[in-house]
Amino acid sequence: MSAIIIDGKKIALEVRKSWKERVDRLKQRGILPGLAVIIVGNNPASQVYVRNKIKACHEVGIHSELIDLPEDVSETQLLMTIENLNQTPIINGILVQLPLPKHIDVNKVLETISVEKDVDGFHLYNLGALMSGNTIFPPCTPFGVQCLLEYSNIPIEGQNAVIVGRSNIVGKPMAMMLLQKNATVSICTSKTRDLKQFTSLADILVVATGKPNLITSDMVKPGAAVIDVGINRLEDGRLVGDVDFEGVKKVAGYITPVPGGVGPMTITMLVANTVIAAEQANQA
Ligand code: NDP
Repeated sequence: MSAIIIDGKKIALEVRKSWKERVDRLKQRGILPGLAVIIVGNNPASQVYVRNKIKACHEVGIHSELIDLPEDVSETQLLMTIENLNQTPIINGILVQLPLPKHIDVNKVLETISVEKDVDGFHLYNLGALMSGNTIFPPCTPFGVQCLLEYSNIPIEGQNAVIVGRSNIVGKPMAMMLLQKNATVSICTSKTRDLKQFTSLADILVVATGKPNLITSDMVKPGAAVIDVGINRLEDGRLVGDVDFEGVKKVAGYITPVPGGVGPMTITMLVANTVIAAEQANQA
């Protein structure tokens, strides 16, 4: 048996069409959704991510502004930039590309973004509200994973979901979102004693560790849906996930490739959150 490959690129394009329709409806009311993207320094990966985010916004008709700050910008200057954007009516969403230089307190930055404009979903309020199922903006990567599962008609309710990784931006919110959808959820970390014991029970396995080939075919339940969030650049320049794709696709029922799986959906959900922010700011 060979797994169905979940084509994130194709699904992202289709999902974006429905968000474009919502942008068009806003435009008919004279409203242009706007996103501000702040980048600090010259991290090459961040530059690529930011370019792709702005391109996706452009494609659906969202106005975007790139604010490019030098590596040595002061924390005060960055916070003032965010506060100005909080007060700018044509900007509905504010995204600060991570990681930030070490001299800047990332938590202070994320909490300065107005909750109503926090389209990355990293503000304490939005993360905390995931606990009660009331978040305004779900963080884009887990939101994208949920969308991929739903789009592929993979059932969530009652399924065993195992999340490998517990970061605040992927693992933990992913766990809360699947719990909200009535999955039985386990979270594994680098301290988990016997990872395979957990992963082999998973009907849905979401891996977000940044460790290439962490998940091999012997760790996967036959027929499982395997979602690989990891993005790792190997020494030979290849981009791979955290899952041994070739081995695992022989066992799994569904699998996401890297690249072309979760990545395009992360960007799509940023578009979605920006449209939601504009709709909420302009409620009739
Ligand atoms: P973090 O480094 O913040 O977290 C990694 C998590 O993996 C930690 O919780 C860590 O455990 C856990 N971990 C590490 N090694 C193991 C192991 N051997 N067994 C079990 N768990 C382990 O990473 P992020 O969540 O930010 O990102 C994870 C990956 O996803 C990266 O490759 C990143 O590039 C990618 N990513 C992709 C996105 C996309 O759009 N596709 C978006 C965001 C991230 P512990 O807490 O114990 O240290």
